[in-house]
Amino acid sequence: MSEYKETLLTKDEIENAVKGVAYRIHKDYEGEELLIVCILKGAFIFCADLVRNLDLPCEIDFISASSYGSSTVSSGNVRIHKDIEYDIAGRHVILVEDIVDSGLTLSRLKSFFLSRNPASLKICCLLDKKERRQTDIEVDYSCFTIPDAFVVGYGLDYDSRYRNLPDIMVLDESVYNH
Ligand code: 5GP
Repeated sequence: MSEYKETLLTKDEIENAVKGVAYRIHKDYEGEELLIVCILKGAFIFCADLVRNLDLPCEIDFISASSYGSSTVSSGNVRIHKDIEYDIAGRHVILVEDIVDSGLTLSRLKSFFLSRNPASLKICCLLDKKERRQTDIEVDYSCFTIPDAFVVGYGLDYDSRYRNLPDIMVLDESVYNH
């Protein structure tokens, strides 16, 4: 039996959508310098592809954060494992996240970043599970709105596996319900 229920998004579909979002960011920030903050670990592949399509001067920093809860549902209690290294005061910052589900993780991170007085702060995500939202967090750039299913691949894991898959797959429930 396969570990996957279906392929949700192929490598080519992802590539096109990432280029589209990079273009929108380029248009919005023309003439500015950007600080891109990649939220590890899940966003590492998305962020690498995004910045390679971004024709703007930008610096890139990394924050490692996770919300702890059950294995497939976020609690919103965010733990910062590694903070960024740059001072963001007065800078135009974009937080790059893999997936927004309840929105709890990003709303905590957003407050954390706003307290450091950036010139502006926007959110860019690869996947948005809009129907699961529990907060009023606004996502400024998103590549795909997806249904409520647990997905892996293109940086996203389950139990530290599957990050290296080139496509985004819906994981079969038998993998995590046992
Ligand atoms: P939120 O706080 O918005 O509920 O959850 C966001 C975090 O939960 C994401 O950064 C990601 O780590 C994890 N997450 C939510 N949905 C999924 C999913 O379908 N697949 C994977 N691999 N992680 C998810």
